[in-house]
Amino acid sequence: MFKHALPHRVPAARRYLQPRWSSQSSTAQEPFPPNINEWSHPPSNATISDEEISRLAAKPRQPLTLADLVKHGKPPLNDAALLSSANFTLSRLPARLAHRIQALRNLPFIVVANPNVSAIYNNYLHSLSTLEPFYKKQITTIEEEMKFTEVMADLVRTHSNTIPTLAQGFLQCRKYIDPMEVTRFLDQHLRARIGTRLVAEQHLALHMASTGESALRKPDPTHVGVIDLALQPASIVRTCESFVGEICELKYGVRPQVVINGEVEAEFAHIPMHIEYIITELLKNACRATIESGNEAHPIEITIATAPDVGSATKLDSLRKLSVSEKTNYDFSQDGLEEYVSSQEADVEPLNTAAPCITLRIRDRGGGIAPDALPNIWSYSFTTFNKEEADAAVAENGNSDGLNAIASSGSNQSTIAGLGYGLPLGRAYAEYFGGGISLQSMYGWGTDVYLTLQGIGKTEGLKEGPSVFD
Ligand code: ADP
Ligand code: MG
Repeated sequence: MFKHALPHRVPAARRYLQPRWSSQSSTAQEPFPPNINEWSHPPSNATISDEEISRLAAKPRQPLTLADLVKHGKPPLNDAALLSSANFTLSRLPARLAHRIQALRNLPFIVVANPNVSAIYNNYLHSLSTLEPFYKKQITTIEEEMKFTEVMADLVRTHSNTIPTLAQGFLQCRKYIDPMEVTRFLDQHLRARIGTRLVAEQHLALHMASTGESALRKPDPTHVGVIDLALQPASIVRTCESFVGEICELKYGVRPQVVINGEVEAEFAHIPMHIEYIITELLKNACRATIESGNEAHPIEITIATAPDVGSATKLDSLRKLSVSEKTNYDFSQDGLEEYVSSQEADVEPLNTAAPCITLRIRDRGGGIAPDALPNIWSYSFTTFNKEEADAAVAENGNSDGLNAIASSGSNQSTIAGLGYGLPLGRAYAEYFGGGISLQSMYGWGTDVYLTLQGIGKTEGLKEGPSVFD
């Protein structure tokens, strides 16, 4: 009945498995596929049935909005709120995990047979199996909620190493599958993983906030679980700068200076873990380029700006602040502006509910990106980092314990480069809630990276922000 375990040993089927992408086929010296006879798989101890996986995966996808996550974390964080958070989590996770299991099963056999990829596959089966007793019925007591929270903690831990493990698996298979297929799978998988982790981590954070684990700390009015309602990108940049600076000192013996200018006080509601991940990756790229081009005397410049034209309240406020000469750009006379503002006032939300859009420009003097590399920089695994060092990076990242905030995004980021996931995964994080990353290279001089982040409304239900299905 349970057919999850992949073959313990890949069948001696080399003769059936010809490389599908001959333009990248292996050389004569290289065994095909590398070490395939070593590819053995621990049997899965999953108890979930295939029928149940199909049933869950066939359920209509439910969108995830940050407003949902905020809703269950609003004070007072009492037992009822925790139970509702647990049941909300259970309403979302099983179908998401089942989708991922099906997507993994649909990969070509040579990929699923890889020990790294099958380890991830087994993790998903294990996680869904551990959730099964809970989602079959509602969680109605705080004792059940505590058991469920333990399962959530285990789930988050189990999946903390997914990125380096999958990266290694796909690298080992790369000669035999279509690179586009890999990109499609990874992009979908890693984006889905962002949401799944978020739902699980939000419940864990709310549980911690409501129990003795944080009772000694002062209540924090600016946090709702993993969401910070008053997040200052400038302060995250400073944290990441010190982390990346240490990596640079270890690797190169120098650390470039980082200057922050623009609206350094800007704040909005967002998820610190996500922004930490993105900024760490972008800073590592800027630092590496700066140092390797011998330009470490030139600081990396980070400019922060809040867009004036998102969220009507923000727009009105910024219109009010404009000087007379600037107002002419809006085609308003002074009287016309006041009239416009008053006519809008009745319809707009109070100012603190606006969801501002903040852009960070990370400008380095690292020499830019060569035109032949430029088309590839958004592909998973593309790197110009030295191959041996890149392999070492994968191996080292594979030992991640996934415990600190930066690592909890799933890829211990303690090496300067080499996985080739920084840009594509950073962009996936930014896009997840409506932001984005674009990059402008000035070859021979430097690079500008524009990170746009769409904030979340501070008040439940007033600004939902974009919703995401995966
Ligand atoms: P990795 O840093 O592991 O190589 P990334 O996805 O972060 O992977 O970046 C991919 C490649 O893009 C890098 O290897 C580098 O060649 C190029 N790149 C990214 N950012 C910059 C930058 N600021 N300056 C120069 N090259 C860059
Ligand atoms: Mg990088």
